[in-house]
Amino acid sequence: MSRIKLMCGNWKLHKTIAESVELATAVKNAVGPLRDVEVAVAPVFTALHAVAKRLEGSAVVLAAQNCFWEDQGAWTGEVSAKLLKDVGCKYVIIAHSERRQWFGETDAMASLKVRAALRNGLDPIYCVGETLAERDAGEAFHVVGRQLEGGLTDLTAKEAERLVIAYEPVWAIGTGRTASPQQAQEVHQFIRGKLSEKFGNAAEAIRIQYGGSVKPDNASLLMDQPDIDGALVGGASLKADDFLKIVKYRNS
Ligand code: PEP
Repeated sequence: MSRIKLMCGNWKLHKTIAESVELATAVKNAVGPLRDVEVAVAPVFTALHAVAKRLEGSAVVLAAQNCFWEDQGAWTGEVSAKLLKDVGCKYVIIAHSERRQWFGETDAMASLKVRAALRNGLDPIYCVGETLAERDAGEAFHVVGRQLEGGLTDLTAKEAERLVIAYEPVWAIGTGRTASPQQAQEVHQFIRGKLSEKFGNAAEAIRIQYGGSVKPDNASLLMDQPDIDGALVGGASLKADDFLKIVKYRNS
């Protein structure tokens, strides 16, 4: 099964509305029509509307960095998947390691968010990955397996086809330290196996992105691995040139 690679820029807590629109414009103008890769950008919440407008008519799609699990109600400060769909998002990143580390997000919360996203027509990008201490203790597979079990509950195989999993070893995020292509492929293969136990043949359609210090000079070796179906890019997505080199890794 050939899966279209998904390259998603996670802009984290960076850029004003004007700066986000400027970066989105640069990405949109440089990617042109796309055939064998899908490109998404995930700005801050306050810039989503303006960036959505700027991306209209282009091949670049919009992602959000987080969502809440209820659609509406007395939940001060939250933004629901329903509203993210309304503003024009196609994807939503769920349980990024920074959310797990700093905001106490658990697999159980992730599961609610994954289901809220699917219910509202958004495709979830569900993040998993072990810390350095867990890797050093030989627990990487166990941790990732547990995150998949806990975060992906009560889904049909049809719903599962819409999932994107982002494997992001925490020790490689924002550190400049990347998993080697072999280290990453090993975990991606493990994830595919787990997805296949849970969802049968649908696992072949699920894209598994790698994230963790992806840069123009390491993208191609990572993307050449059979179970790596794209990248979730943090730091390097903040500069249009670097992000575009990653998107066009085949030409580099
Ligand atoms: C991320 O934030 O998802 C990420 C992978 O960051 P970086 O590329 O900066 O390591």
